[in-house]
Amino acid sequence: MNIVLFGPPGAGKGTQAKEISENYHIPHISTGDILRDNVKNGTELGNKAKEYMDKGELVPDEVLIGIIKNRLIEPDCNNGYILDGYPRTINQADALDEILENLGKSLDVVLNIEVPDEELVTRLSGRRICSNCGANYHLKFSPPSKDGICDVCGGKLYQRDDDKEEVIKQRLETYNNQTAPLIGYYKEKDILVNIDGTGKVEDVFEDIRSVLDNL
Ligand code: ADP
Ligand code: ADP
Ligand code: ZN
Repeated sequence: MNIVLFGPPGAGKGTQAKEISENYHIPHISTGDILRDNVKNGTELGNKAKEYMDKGELVPDEVLIGIIKNRLIEPDCNNGYILDGYPRTINQADALDEILENLGKSLDVVLNIEVPDEELVTRLSGRRICSNCGANYHLKFSPPSKDGICDVCGGKLYQRDDDKEEVIKQRLETYNNQTAPLIGYYKEKDILVNIDGTGKVEDVFEDIRSVLDNL
């Protein structure tokens, strides 16, 4: 199953991708995670990307297209994958079509997770991440049992630089201007399915499951 998880920052793409990945045994490919790994390791790509990420802007298309091209030819993608955070521009979507066509594959579904803006701000500003294993928490909706410590591995939790209020605003604007037009793009291709992302994590996942099981 080749899935795109689409939606604004904070909609729950990473959270739902983890559920899908565990239940359907396909890899979760998050371009945000790949970029943050590069930033952490101080690679050339990471140093270049960081400038854009810190401002809440998109990293240039050619960088992302290169990343996705390399990732989708890995053998673990043979039985499908979940793309989280890619594509984010029409240009990236066109490039994805071409990459998939060359591999003899195509997208099965684009799940568009819908959450109103004020809820997105609440979700993003309360998000905390484990510096060791990457597990995702929310101060109010899914707090760790010990303050600042990961339940899974005991690692320290941190707040992403771009989850600070000023950058959140810019990211939502970037989404509305550059990424939201993809909704029409995929609607036209007849593979877009809207998912109400406002419920509990389990309830949103049940909606996604019923879509995937009927593909
Ligand atoms: P995205 O990958 O779309 O940016 P995340 O999956 O990281 O979004 O979720 C953003 C924040 O909201 C995280 O702190 C996460 O724990 C929380 N969250 C995700 N889904 C829900 C939900 N259904 N209800 C409440 N909080 C949620
Ligand atoms: P979100 O919580 O907004 O879904 P991500 O972790 O997906 O955040 O992305 C974080 C940042 O990484 C984005 O604000 C952007 O700067 C960069 N980024 C991630 N994916 C892409 C992409 N496909 N195209 C351009 N920039 C990207
Ligand atoms: Zn952890």
